[in-house]
Amino acid sequence: MSDLIAQNLISGNLAAIRHRIAQACEKAGRAEADVSLVAVSKFHPIESVEAALNAGQHLFGENRVQEAASKFPELRQRWPDLRLHIIGGLQTNKAAEACQIADMIESLDRPSLSDSIEKGAQKAGRLPELLVQVNTGDEPQKSGVPREEADAFIEASLERFGPKIRGLMCIPPEGEDPTPHFRLLRQMGHRHGLPVLSMGMSADFEKAIAENATLVRVGTAIFGSRPAPQS
Ligand SMILES: *Cc1c(COP(=O)(O)O)cnc(C)c1O
Repeated sequence: MSDLIAQNLISGNLAAIRHRIAQACEKAGRAEADVSLVAVSKFHPIESVEAALNAGQHLFGENRVQEAASKFPELRQRWPDLRLHIIGGLQTNKAAEACQIADMIESLDRPSLSDSIEKGAQKAGRLPELLVQVNTGDEPQKSGVPREEADAFIEASLERFGPKIRGLMCIPPEGEDPTPHFRLLRQMGHRHGLPVLSMGMSADFEKAIAENATLVRVGTAIFGSRPAPQS
Protein backbone atom coordinates (compact mmCIF):
# COMPACT_ATOMS: atom_id res chain seq x y z
CA MET A 1 0.00 0.00 0.00
CA SER A 2 1.33 3.48 -0.81
CA ASP A 3 1.98 5.84 2.09
CA LEU A 4 -0.69 8.23 0.88
CA ILE A 5 -3.37 5.55 0.69
CA ALA A 6 -2.38 4.23 4.11
CA GLN A 7 -2.51 7.78 5.55
CA ASN A 8 -5.98 8.38 4.10
CA LEU A 9 -7.26 5.04 5.29
CA ILE A 10 -6.06 5.57 8.85
CA SER A 11 -7.31 9.20 9.00
CA GLY A 12 -10.69 8.08 7.70
CA ASN A 13 -10.91 5.22 10.18
CA LEU A 14 -9.98 7.51 13.05
CA ALA A 15 -12.59 10.06 12.06
CA ALA A 16 -15.23 7.32 11.90
CA ILE A 17 -14.28 5.95 15.33
CA ARG A 18 -14.28 9.41 16.91
CA HIS A 19 -17.71 10.00 15.45
CA ARG A 20 -19.00 6.72 16.86
CA ILE A 21 -17.50 7.56 20.26
CA ALA A 22 -19.28 10.94 20.19
CA GLN A 23 -22.58 9.25 19.33
CA ALA A 24 -22.17 6.63 22.07
CA CYS A 25 -21.43 9.40 24.58
CA GLU A 26 -24.49 11.33 23.54
CA LYS A 27 -26.66 8.25 23.84
CA ALA A 28 -25.28 7.57 27.33
CA GLY A 29 -25.65 11.21 28.41
CA ARG A 30 -21.92 11.50 28.93
CA ALA A 31 -19.43 14.20 27.99
CA GLU A 32 -17.30 13.30 25.00
CA ALA A 33 -14.25 14.66 26.78
CA ASP A 34 -14.59 11.92 29.42
CA VAL A 35 -13.73 9.15 26.94
CA SER A 36 -10.23 8.83 25.48
CA LEU A 37 -9.34 6.69 22.51
CA VAL A 38 -6.28 4.46 22.88
CA ALA A 39 -5.13 3.55 19.37
CA VAL A 40 -3.74 0.01 19.65
CA SER A 41 -0.84 -0.17 17.20
CA LYS A 42 0.61 -3.58 18.10
CA PHE A 43 2.14 -5.44 15.14
CA HIS A 44 1.70 -2.39 12.93
CA PRO A 45 4.75 -0.56 11.61
CA ILE A 46 5.96 2.81 12.81
CA GLU A 47 4.61 4.37 9.58
CA SER A 48 1.07 3.48 10.63
CA VAL A 49 1.61 5.10 14.03
CA GLU A 50 2.88 8.22 12.25
CA ALA A 51 -0.16 8.26 10.00
CA ALA A 52 -2.35 8.27 13.13
CA LEU A 53 -0.22 11.02 14.71
CA ASN A 54 -0.64 13.09 11.54
CA ALA A 55 -4.40 12.60 11.92
CA GLY A 56 -4.32 14.06 15.44
CA GLN A 57 -4.19 10.82 17.47
CA HIS A 58 -1.68 11.09 20.33
CA LEU A 59 -2.53 8.21 22.65
CA PHE A 60 -1.37 4.70 21.75
CA GLY A 61 -1.45 1.21 23.24
CA GLU A 62 1.04 -1.62 22.75
CA ASN A 63 0.88 -5.05 24.34
CA ARG A 64 4.56 -5.99 24.12
CA VAL A 65 7.25 -3.95 25.81
CA GLN A 66 9.96 -4.87 23.33
CA GLU A 67 7.93 -3.85 20.33
CA ALA A 68 6.87 -0.62 22.04
CA ALA A 69 10.48 0.16 22.87
CA SER A 70 11.49 -0.29 19.25
CA LYS A 71 8.81 2.11 17.97
CA PHE A 72 8.03 4.83 20.47
CA PRO A 73 11.12 6.48 21.96
CA GLU A 74 12.07 7.76 18.51
CA LEU A 75 8.56 9.06 17.81
CA ARG A 76 8.42 10.86 21.15
CA GLN A 77 11.27 13.11 20.12
CA ARG A 78 9.21 14.42 17.25
CA TRP A 79 5.81 14.27 18.96
CA PRO A 80 6.21 15.52 22.53
CA ASP A 81 2.46 15.08 23.23
CA LEU A 82 2.57 11.38 22.44
CA ARG A 83 1.36 9.09 25.24
CA LEU A 84 1.94 5.35 25.43
CA HIS A 85 0.03 2.72 27.40
CA ILE A 86 1.26 -0.83 27.92
CA ILE A 87 -1.91 -2.93 27.69
CA GLY A 88 -0.70 -6.53 27.59
CA GLY A 89 0.17 -9.10 30.20
CA LEU A 90 3.53 -7.99 31.59
CA GLN A 91 6.42 -10.26 32.57
CA THR A 92 8.25 -9.19 35.71
CA ASN A 93 11.56 -8.99 33.83
CA LYS A 94 10.06 -6.37 31.47
CA ALA A 95 8.75 -4.11 34.24
CA ALA A 96 11.79 -1.82 34.39
CA GLU A 97 11.71 -1.15 30.67
CA ALA A 98 7.95 -0.62 30.81
CA CYS A 99 8.50 2.03 33.52
CA GLN A 100 11.05 3.70 31.28
CA ILE A 101 8.89 3.97 28.16
CA ALA A 102 5.23 3.99 29.23
CA ASP A 103 2.96 6.69 30.59
CA MET A 104 0.55 4.08 31.89
CA ILE A 105 0.71 0.34 32.54
CA GLU A 106 -2.82 -1.07 32.24
CA SER A 107 -2.00 -4.62 33.29
CA LEU A 108 -0.99 -4.69 36.95
CA ASP A 109 -2.40 -8.01 38.13
CA ARG A 110 -0.23 -9.66 40.80
CA PRO A 111 1.98 -8.89 43.79
CA SER A 112 5.19 -10.08 42.07
CA LEU A 113 4.56 -7.56 39.29
CA SER A 114 3.98 -4.81 41.86
CA ASP A 115 7.40 -5.65 43.31
CA SER A 116 9.04 -5.49 39.88
CA ILE A 117 7.31 -2.26 38.96
CA GLU A 118 8.39 -0.66 42.23
CA LYS A 119 12.00 -1.69 41.63
CA GLY A 120 11.82 -0.82 37.94
CA ALA A 121 10.45 2.63 38.74
CA GLN A 122 13.38 3.29 41.06
CA LYS A 123 15.79 2.25 38.37
CA ALA A 124 14.03 4.27 35.67
CA GLY A 125 13.45 7.27 37.90
CA ARG A 126 9.80 7.34 36.89
CA LEU A 127 6.66 5.48 37.81
CA PRO A 128 3.93 5.33 35.14
CA GLU A 129 0.26 5.57 36.07
CA LEU A 130 -1.23 2.15 36.74
CA LEU A 131 -4.46 0.25 36.14
CA VAL A 132 -5.31 -3.02 37.82
CA GLN A 133 -6.38 -5.58 35.23
CA VAL A 134 -9.26 -7.76 36.42
CA ASN A 135 -9.92 -11.16 34.85
CA THR A 136 -13.69 -10.64 34.97
CA GLY A 137 -14.37 -13.95 33.23
CA ASP A 138 -11.90 -15.87 35.43
CA GLU A 139 -10.33 -17.36 32.29
CA PRO A 140 -7.29 -19.46 33.21
CA GLN A 141 -5.18 -18.41 30.20
CA LYS A 142 -5.83 -14.69 30.56
CA SER A 143 -3.92 -12.06 32.50
CA GLY A 144 -5.71 -10.16 35.20
CA VAL A 145 -6.35 -10.70 38.88
CA PRO A 146 -9.13 -13.27 39.49
CA ARG A 147 -12.46 -11.74 40.41
CA GLU A 148 -12.49 -13.10 43.95
CA GLU A 149 -9.09 -11.61 44.73
CA ALA A 150 -9.62 -8.30 42.97
CA ASP A 151 -10.90 -6.16 45.85
CA ALA A 152 -8.05 -7.15 48.16
CA PHE A 153 -5.46 -6.67 45.41
CA ILE A 154 -6.83 -3.24 44.51
CA GLU A 155 -6.66 -2.17 48.17
CA ALA A 156 -3.11 -3.43 48.55
CA SER A 157 -2.13 -1.67 45.32
CA LEU A 158 -3.65 1.59 46.50
CA GLU A 159 -1.71 1.33 49.73
CA ARG A 160 1.48 0.68 47.86
CA PHE A 161 1.23 3.07 44.92
CA GLY A 162 -1.29 5.65 46.17
CA PRO A 163 -2.78 7.91 43.50
CA LYS A 164 -0.64 6.32 40.76
CA ILE A 165 -3.37 3.66 40.76
CA ARG A 166 -5.84 5.35 38.44
CA GLY A 167 -8.37 2.62 37.77
CA LEU A 168 -9.23 -0.75 36.31
CA MET A 169 -8.99 -2.59 33.02
CA CYS A 170 -10.66 -5.74 31.66
CA ILE A 171 -10.93 -7.87 28.53
CA PRO A 172 -14.23 -9.81 28.54
CA PRO A 173 -14.20 -13.43 27.32
CA GLU A 174 -14.54 -13.76 23.57
CA GLY A 175 -17.97 -14.73 22.33
CA GLU A 176 -19.78 -13.63 25.50
CA ASP A 177 -22.00 -10.62 26.01
CA PRO A 178 -19.43 -8.10 27.31
CA THR A 179 -21.90 -5.87 29.15
CA PRO A 180 -22.02 -7.83 32.45
CA HIS A 181 -18.21 -7.73 32.51
CA PHE A 182 -18.13 -3.99 31.87
CA ARG A 183 -20.73 -3.51 34.58
CA LEU A 184 -18.77 -5.57 37.07
CA LEU A 185 -15.67 -3.48 36.42
CA ARG A 186 -17.68 -0.28 36.76
CA GLN A 187 -19.05 -1.36 40.15
CA MET A 188 -15.61 -2.39 41.33
CA GLY A 189 -14.13 0.95 40.27
CA HIS A 190 -16.92 2.77 42.05
CA ARG A 191 -16.32 0.81 45.28
CA HIS A 192 -12.71 1.89 45.35
CA GLY A 193 -13.26 5.47 44.17
CA LEU A 194 -11.21 4.94 41.01
CA PRO A 195 -11.87 7.32 38.10
CA VAL A 196 -10.47 5.36 35.12
CA LEU A 197 -12.13 2.36 33.42
CA SER A 198 -10.30 0.90 30.42
CA MET A 199 -12.74 -1.36 28.59
CA GLY A 200 -14.08 -1.88 25.09
CA MET A 201 -12.26 -2.76 21.86
CA SER A 202 -13.11 -2.55 18.14
CA ALA A 203 -16.10 -4.87 18.44
CA ASP A 204 -17.70 -3.51 21.60
CA PHE A 205 -16.46 -0.03 22.56
CA GLU A 206 -19.92 1.50 22.28
CA LYS A 207 -21.27 -0.97 24.84
CA ALA A 208 -18.32 -0.12 27.08
CA ILE A 209 -19.06 3.60 26.81
CA ALA A 210 -22.65 2.86 27.87
CA GLU A 211 -21.13 1.34 31.05
CA ASN A 212 -18.89 4.36 31.77
CA ALA A 213 -15.63 3.39 30.05
CA THR A 214 -13.17 6.29 30.14
CA LEU A 215 -10.54 4.59 27.92
CA VAL A 216 -11.47 2.50 24.89
CA ARG A 217 -8.70 0.47 23.26
CA VAL A 218 -9.26 0.19 19.52
CA GLY A 219 -6.84 -1.50 17.11
CA THR A 220 -8.32 -3.24 14.08
CA ALA A 221 -10.97 -0.61 13.39
CA ILE A 222 -8.22 2.02 13.06
CA PHE A 223 -5.23 0.21 11.57
CA GLY A 224 -6.90 -2.71 9.79
CA SER A 225 -6.22 -6.37 10.44
CA ARG A 226 -2.92 -7.09 12.10
CA PRO A 227 0.04 -8.40 10.14
CA ALA A 228 1.84 -11.39 11.65
CA PRO A 229 3.80 -10.40 14.75
CA GLN A 230 7.30 -9.05 14.06
CA SER A 231 9.34 -11.23 16.34
C1 LIG B 1 -5.12 -5.97 20.68
C2 LIG B 1 -5.78 -5.41 21.87
C3 LIG B 1 -6.84 -4.49 21.75
C4 LIG B 1 -7.40 -4.03 20.42
O1 LIG B 1 -8.19 -5.01 19.85
P1 LIG B 1 -9.02 -4.75 18.50
O2 LIG B 1 -10.05 -5.81 18.52
O3 LIG B 1 -8.06 -4.87 17.37
O4 LIG B 1 -9.61 -3.39 18.60
C5 LIG B 1 -7.38 -3.98 22.91
N1 LIG B 1 -6.93 -4.35 24.13
C6 LIG B 1 -5.92 -5.23 24.28
C7 LIG B 1 -5.47 -5.59 25.65
C8 LIG B 1 -5.32 -5.79 23.17
O5 LIG B 1 -4.31 -6.67 23.34
